[in-house]
Amino acid sequence: MGKIEDLETINGEGYQLTTLDKAIGLARANSVWPLPFATSCCGIEFMATMGSMYDMSRFGMERMSFTPRQADLLIVAGTISKKLGPVLKQVYEQMAEPKWVLSVGACASSGGIFDTYSVLQGIDRIIPVDVYVPGCPPRPEQIIDGVMNIHKLVKKESMRRRYSDEYKHLLHDYKIEITNDEND
Ligand code: SF4
Repeated sequence: MGKIEDLETINGEGYQLTTLDKAIGLARANSVWPLPFATSCCGIEFMATMGSMYDMSRFGMERMSFTPRQADLLIVAGTISKKLGPVLKQVYEQMAEPKWVLSVGACASSGGIFDTYSVLQGIDRIIPVDVYVPGCPPRPEQIIDGVMNIHKLVKKESMRRRYSDEYKHLLHDYKIEITNDEND
């Protein structure tokens, strides 16, 4: 969980200083709105993760977003067929920056056991992925571990990253139009 003490800070009597980057990172990491893109068994594990036993609300993440425009974490859980690929990509494109992607389970990450003509052999063939969760299926604890790794990335991310050439090249490689160009 986010605490101001976790950040690099300068403390004094009655004041505490940190960088804007780190303060924004802390706020973003503790207000992630996930969009579950669940297609099969890994989706069921994700539902268990959302239940009271595991309790995603401890991260402030119990509010699922079923519209891409109000989500900043795309959680892909399950087998993605090649036919479904363009739909997944469109959902990703409709999410506003900054956005992150969690690939849950072997199928989403690599096609899993379905090495067939009809199954996408990993969602990173069509969209960039930030964190992969291994397993078939992964247990809820593993999904939570993946979510916590996303939080670490979010906290550390510079506010400038989404405007960097490196990021623009990444999206260009995926043939995804950048929506937050500084010159817009
Ligand atoms: S990784 Fe295993 S559990 Fe998850 S969707 Fe594929 S077959 Fe199902």
